[in-house]
Amino acid sequence: MNKQKQKKNVMISLFFIFIASFILYVEAAISADNRYNKKKPVIIIDPGHGGYDKGITGIYGLFEKKVSLVFSNILHDKLKDKYKTILTRTDDYFVNLVDRTSFANQMDGNLLISIHTGGGSYRFSYFTLYYGITGRQHIQLDMNDSLSYNSYTTPEDIWDLISNRHTDHSKKIAELIKKNYTNSEKKVCKIKQYPLFILKGADMPAILVEIGNLSNPVCEDKELSNKKYLIKLADILVSAIDEYFK
Ligand SMILES: [Zn+2]
Repeated sequence: MNKQKQKKNVMISLFFIFIASFILYVEAAISADNRYNKKKPVIIIDPGHGGYDKGITGIYGLFEKKVSLVFSNILHDKLKDKYKTILTRTDDYFVNLVDRTSFANQMDGNLLISIHTGGGSYRFSYFTLYYGITGRQHIQLDMNDSLSYNSYTTPEDIWDLISNRHTDHSKKIAELIKKNYTNSEKKVCKIKQYPLFILKGADMPAILVEIGNLSNPVCEDKELSNKKYLIKLADILVSAIDEYFK
């Protein structure tokens, strides 16, 4: 091979190396940019009760406010890498319902999950999921419409209307959790549509979960006071949440 031909081959090789490096550089830049632009969904986790508001007390003395905080912390730890997760309370103190939902709205949440246990007179172990309804379901809020509040002027009325447009999504999340729970636990899981105050004012899909029943001694002793069981339940919620946001 003469010298000129050799030089030509080297130039061609260098050219292709340059092109390949450029392509790799552009691809890396695009994927870094995508990572930067992909905003993590904001999940507000609301541990029910707190402070003087103990919630339900089990017959062995376990407080609902404690179970809800322990479970919420487990859920928070499991979600925090993939989502921006925010707790409405982080210790044993009282937060009123309006402040919880308002905080979720201020944080621009994409999902509100309020954690509770069941109780009261029934003694079976239920896993219950609530999503909201409003007293004025015929009114649909539309982001693009100019709204007339002429006949609905009290703050309570407006509060009641906010969650309307998220009802279908709230229901969808409840159904995903129910599917996972029933597959994993083979126990009763109910979905109820109920105008709970904390859900009604949420400007995002919102559900309230009763993760067990504190008035059931077996549930209190074997499940709600057992961290391993709570971790298993949290995994059920996490996979439903992942499915919802995928
Ligand atoms: Zn409660």
